[in-house]
Amino acid sequence: MITDEVEKLKNEMVEAMKDLIPKVAISPEVGGKGESERANFVESLLKEIGFDEIKRIDAVDHLGYKRPNIIAKIFGEHPDKTLWIIAHMDTVPEGDISLWKTDPFNAYIENDRIYGRGTVDNGQALIGAIFAIKAIKEYGIKPPHNIGFMAVSDEEMGSKYGMKYVLDHYDFGRNDSFLVPDAGNEFGSEIEIAEKGILWFSLKVNGIQSHGSRPDLGLNAHRIGMQLALEIDKVLHEKYNDKDELFTPPFSTFEPTKKEKNVSNINTVPGTDIIYFDTRILPKYKIDDILRDIDNIAKKYESITKAKIEISVIQRSDPVTPTNANEKVVSDLIKILKETRNINPKLIGIGGGTVAAELRGKGYPAVVWATLDEVEHSPNEYCKISNMVSDAKVFALIYLKF
Ligand SMILES: [Zn+2]
Repeated sequence: MITDEVEKLKNEMVEAMKDLIPKVAISPEVGGKGESERANFVESLLKEIGFDEIKRIDAVDHLGYKRPNIIAKIFGEHPDKTLWIIAHMDTVPEGDISLWKTDPFNAYIENDRIYGRGTVDNGQALIGAIFAIKAIKEYGIKPPHNIGFMAVSDEEMGSKYGMKYVLDHYDFGRNDSFLVPDAGNEFGSEIEIAEKGILWFSLKVNGIQSHGSRPDLGLNAHRIGMQLALEIDKVLHEKYNDKDELFTPPFSTFEPTKKEKNVSNINTVPGTDIIYFDTRILPKYKIDDILRDIDNIAKKYESITKAKIEISVIQRSDPVTPTNANEKVVSDLIKILKETRNINPKLIGIGGGTVAAELRGKGYPAVVWATLDEVEHSPNEYCKISNMVSDAKVFALIYLKF
């Protein structure tokens, strides 16, 4: 059985994870050096296994750092389509180091857990997919269709130099499908087939600063900023209020989040005010419509108050059509999970942010699935060895079924 073949590789997988974690892969935008060292290691693993094709599609970011992407393929009996598994190489920074019990950049093993930054997000998938393919090679069977593996950069910061860059520079097959093992729960019982769109924006109100006792000489940007934000909040909630039970929560969300510091003392009327919103939008709505509403409300406030209001889009990822539940990659995964784990997985939608949304936006079927404890981005991040091995078995099975 192919699953026995995967099981035999367990120790090698743990060793590979131990080699991977010290090759730090943090985005230059948050103080790291990018993914180059990690990518070279991944490429060497892939070369050892022996692929029919290994390509590098390396981007260079605005700070001048190389942002590598590796694309590897094994041809099947019928090379007319490819099932791709995608893992991202980059990690978030360690955060507050005092909260870690061990060195975040040295894998530390205790019982079934490997601790370290990037173990579960997304090392588990990276190592799991590579060794699933190694097991298939060692088992000596040619897969029915092509096996594809991709290690991408820049996922944590929005994929500009990762998945988005690859989509602009690589031709995928019309019938290709994608599995992104980058989110899930402890049972592996959720298959994500839909994501909300994401819009982050800021509202900057420019008024006139004055003494706290002489508001008549100024224009209080803070008051206008609060009123404006509350009205936008109210209008968006009222207008875009449909429900879709695929998602948790089943509605679009519009949250005022960050607030920039204005004046440092109490007795000054602030001349500027900046507030941010994080909004997550159901696939049925259009971000352009939402931006038009925001713009209209801002114009109304400008004419009433005479303040200048600037709206900036910080992040935008338009909602895309969910992957159809009848797609082979979805039904194969469901079947495999029923047969091997005796579970009946649930199809879900999430608040957005994985590379699957980019793929769906280009019309490709993409599912997000993994078995993991949800400790991504937290101190003492870990992955369970048992999850890594058991998910690798699912990867091998789905590669051979597709
Ligand atoms: Zn991730």
